[in-house]
Amino acid sequence: MIKKNDIVTLTIEDFGKDGEGIGKYDGFTVFVKDTVIGDTIQARMIKLKKNYGYGRLMEVLTSSGYRVPARCPAARPCGGCQLQFLSYDRQLAFKQEKVRGNLERIGGVQFTAPKESGSENALMEPIIGMENPWHYRNKEQFPIGWSRDGRRIAGFYAGHTHSLVEIKDCPIGTEENQKILDIVLKHMERYDILPYDEGTGKGLVRHVLIRKGFYTGEIMVCLVLNGKKLPAQTGLIHQLTAVPNMTSIVLNLNREKGNRILGDQVILLWGKPYIRDTIGNLTFRISPLSFFQVNPIQTQKLYAKALEYASLTGNETVWDLYCGTGTISLFLARKARKVYGVEIIPSAVRDAELNARENGISNVVFKAGKAEEVFPEECGKEGARADVVVVDPPRKGCEQTVLDTIVSMKPDRVVYVSCDSATLARDVKYLSDKGYEVRKVCPVDMFPQSVHVETVVLLSNNFSKAKDYV
Ligand code: SAH
Repeated sequence: MIKKNDIVTLTIEDFGKDGEGIGKYDGFTVFVKDTVIGDTIQARMIKLKKNYGYGRLMEVLTSSGYRVPARCPAARPCGGCQLQFLSYDRQLAFKQEKVRGNLERIGGVQFTAPKESGSENALMEPIIGMENPWHYRNKEQFPIGWSRDGRRIAGFYAGHTHSLVEIKDCPIGTEENQKILDIVLKHMERYDILPYDEGTGKGLVRHVLIRKGFYTGEIMVCLVLNGKKLPAQTGLIHQLTAVPNMTSIVLNLNREKGNRILGDQVILLWGKPYIRDTIGNLTFRISPLSFFQVNPIQTQKLYAKALEYASLTGNETVWDLYCGTGTISLFLARKARKVYGVEIIPSAVRDAELNARENGISNVVFKAGKAEEVFPEECGKEGARADVVVVDPPRKGCEQTVLDTIVSMKPDRVVYVSCDSATLARDVKYLSDKGYEVRKVCPVDMFPQSVHVETVVLLSNNFSKAKDYV
């Protein structure tokens, strides 16, 4: 019988949903992080359940043909890039299959075989990957803390824990990050400014958030403080403004305990309260608290796909739910009669309105509030229309009232943009029981090296076949 701390030898045969390798030992399923399909490895058993267990990789005995050396020395402890050991081609295949599997199993979607034509089944398009899957993130937020040897460091929390792993030159971030972090850490040392301690709630500097406009080059630095003011602020500003393209330096105040990174209050220290970036030929402002897609190169491809699926002719009324700063809304607006965007964060709605104005787009209206409240309410008004509905919810997916309102408004097409294919599949199942069928699916790799994948789905109605459409 297998026991805790036993060392076992296994061959990795599959991937779990978080990218961990799966092997069998004596009929017992073992999950081992940092391994890839085809590896033969030695693992120490760290946790055992009735029918499965978790092992910690001790040694790779025979390396899989899909294994590549990790670029980042902190890849294993950091855990942010779960797939850094896997060749990029194989990462893409993993993500394509993850999306397909979830949609088939949870969503009940049937896909057309590649050569079959004239079928009613859904079409799975090949995942859109990146040519160079590194240095793609326009935003990174680094927790600040202590190293074991008593230095102030910036890093990331080791997967699901609160122990800080020092990171230097994160290979998926921008090259300016390290320079900015070095300046902040040196300033903290010089003035004896303490990093925030999650345990005691004492200390000042919690996080450094850095954002960069990829096309404009503009940079924003946001220091998240457990307090109101940073000692010797002017000196720090002076040094940060020497970084080329520095555009915005702000403080964010967060005095609450807990996991939330940003508080609600932002104080401008220097420059503009936002940076700008362009996607396609539209320009957007990005404020510290607003959501903005983190991979600008892939965002352009994602939005193009969403727009293609919406197939607008110019006569449609379109709803863009969970619209953030109105990015998708503005692309839709150029091809539609009227667009309504709904977003929960008031400052993002303000940015959305300014974005519309600055891009000369006037056929769009943004509404601040919860999609599950605003959308049903507005659709209950006389004369309300929805020819196409686009949704792009956070990981937990759409609330049922959003889906019910979609069904009652009977749009011709629903374009579902999702960053979690399991909740996507759940919502697709709900919609398909009410008369919407999945026509096309296209995964987009917005997060290379990680297990995450974005998906765009086109659904259209088929009320005659619906199970419980009344
Ligand atoms: N479509 C946008 C934003 C997608 S991210 C883009 O591509 O940039 C999801 C957005 O949903 C975030 O801006 C988040 O603030 C917002 N959000 C989260 N819960 C919401 C809710 N219940 N109602 C409306 N918006 C919500």
